[in-house]
Amino acid sequence: MRARWVAGNWKMNGSLRANAALLDAIKAGLEPTDNVAVCVPFPYLGQVSSVLAGSAIAWGAQNVSEHDSGAYTGEVSGAMLREFGCRFAIVGHSERRTLYGESDERVAAKFAAARRAGLTPILCVGETLEQRERGETERVVGRQLDAVGASALSEAVLAYEPVWAIGTGRNATPQQAQEVHAFLRGRVAARDRAVAGNLTILYGGSVKAANAKKLFAMPDIDGGLIGGASLSAAEFIAICAAARRQRVS
Ligand code: PEP
Repeated sequence: MRARWVAGNWKMNGSLRANAALLDAIKAGLEPTDNVAVCVPFPYLGQVSSVLAGSAIAWGAQNVSEHDSGAYTGEVSGAMLREFGCRFAIVGHSERRTLYGESDERVAAKFAAARRAGLTPILCVGETLEQRERGETERVVGRQLDAVGASALSEAVLAYEPVWAIGTGRNATPQQAQEVHAFLRGRVAARDRAVAGNLTILYGGSVKAANAKKLFAMPDIDGGLIGGASLSAAEFIAICAAARRQRVS
């Protein structure tokens, strides 16, 4: 049975004070068996690792360098993230692809660097609205997936995040998301059936407490990657509870 996860992506938000309150509330609101992670800005990894140490909540980063060390000013390596106890690193988020020009090749290199460091990459794929309207969704997400390779996904999490749903308040319908998740799993299965069966595929894009249950009820949706709603303890806890109910039912 593949694992169900809910991961928060705080993006460039937070402060020492706000994080302390949010983390305390999340810790108090979750069950020890929940698979939950928070992916936080680099400067807060020290705080998060000390507040969450000994809890069941995992943490991670939102980006990682494709290089292991050296003259790469401003970059952060996978080994550094491991020193701060990170389990996960998001790679290929659409904001990085769009705003920072990260190509499929660069995302694949970051994915490989994360794996070399012993991190679990959360690989994000997703189409723009224009691509969806032109009927290119499968071509785009297939290409983004293939850049990394199916067998590399044995130690990774995949996240389908339609660009048009991120931060817009407009989530994909459960059926729209399921269609793409099934396509992604099928594409991996065509190369490696065992990897596909065990692959956790998260949906991300305007997930809230109000829509999480229906999304998580779909057969190929194994949880969520949560942006804005992960900054509200009440919303995030309710989303985690929706994933938990789905898991036990
Ligand atoms: C994200 O940034 O990964 C995301 C899913 O954002 P939001 O939940 O705010 O749409």
